[in-house]
Amino acid sequence: MTEKNKILIGGIIDKPGSSKDYKTGSWRSQVPVWDKKKCIQCLVCVNYCPENCIPLKEDKRVETDFDYCKGCGICAQVCPVKAIIMKEGK
Ligand code: SF4
Ligand code: SF4
Repeated sequence: MTEKNKILIGGIIDKPGSSKDYKTGSWRSQVPVWDKKKCIQCLVCVNYCPENCIPLKEDKRVETDFDYCKGCGICAQVCPVKAIIMKEGK
């Protein structure tokens, strides 16, 4: 195996603080649609989002950061008032 095609052992983080470099939004096949009017600002979605891409502004959630939202649908699953629905698309 040459140095160029050497495969790192799974799970190794070879550079700290690199997650911002990987825009996981390109993985998305479904998009979370947030209904601001239904939202009760419980922040459950913020805590469950594995990409940490639901930002807060003055202690309230704001629109998803779609550069990093991978469309997993966890936010929609955990929202107690169904203020997020998943739709097909980017
Ligand atoms: S779909 Fe997944 S990645 Fe996107 S905001 Fe919801 S929980 Fe986060
Ligand atoms: S879980 Fe639902 S109600 Fe709670 S902050 Fe998120 S969108 Fe709003």
